[in-house]
Amino acid sequence: MKVHILLGPPGSGKGTQAKRLVEHFSLVHLSTGDILRDAVSKETEIGLRAKAIMAAGKLVDDDTVNGLVFARLQDETGNVLFDGYPRTLQQAEALADFLSAQGIELGLVVDIEVPEEALEDRVVKRRVCSNNACGDIYHLDRKPPKTAGVCDKCGSSLKHRSDDTAEAFKSRMKAFYDTFKPLQAFYSGKPNYKRVDGTGMPDAVFATVVKIFEAHETSGERV
Ligand code: AMP
Repeated sequence: MKVHILLGPPGSGKGTQAKRLVEHFSLVHLSTGDILRDAVSKETEIGLRAKAIMAAGKLVDDDTVNGLVFARLQDETGNVLFDGYPRTLQQAEALADFLSAQGIELGLVVDIEVPEEALEDRVVKRRVCSNNACGDIYHLDRKPPKTAGVCDKCGSSLKHRSDDTAEAFKSRMKAFYDTFKPLQAFYSGKPNYKRVDGTGMPDAVFATVVKIFEAHETSGERV
């Protein structure tokens, strides 16, 4: 078993690329945002604590997020793709300790780069399928649904995430930049760290990322 990581700011396309990668390479998708939103909608103890923090675009505390992730990893046997985790240096260090204690290998760390000017538009115009099992992601201009407000894939209604407003976006970007540089520095020296230009359309970015995964595979390591 191994874990791969997608890094990048809110709106960089991590979620979109993750959904396609897990299908293409049969990976297990672990999105901490999805896990936390599920906890909020089920009103679990963690969900009740996380709700206001998430709505304000702030980060949920490291111990809570690490606990959720490690509990999930303990039950997994397939190779995992993280989306939205780790987000702080403390999370990256805790994950490294957990992986070495469990004998789990760190696979690729793919860092999707998109300039800040492009991100707000992507986030504010993002719409997501309200059916968690589907979760398809749209953009009002870049990838509009065929029928307004309806998911092309499963026909459920589309929603505008409560933290995808211009206001919450600003604090999410602040949280991102406060924590990202040390996180990037932690991974950037590692051999499987790859930077990807995320400014193109999703298909073009996907083609680049697939090549990285295929090269990793032909280097003798199963994705
Ligand atoms: P995302 O769907 O990845 O954009 O995450 C949505 C929100 O969930 C974030 O703005 C945070 O409030 C929370 N969140 C998700 N992943 C993490 C994480 N690794 N650490 C802390 N908070 C997180």
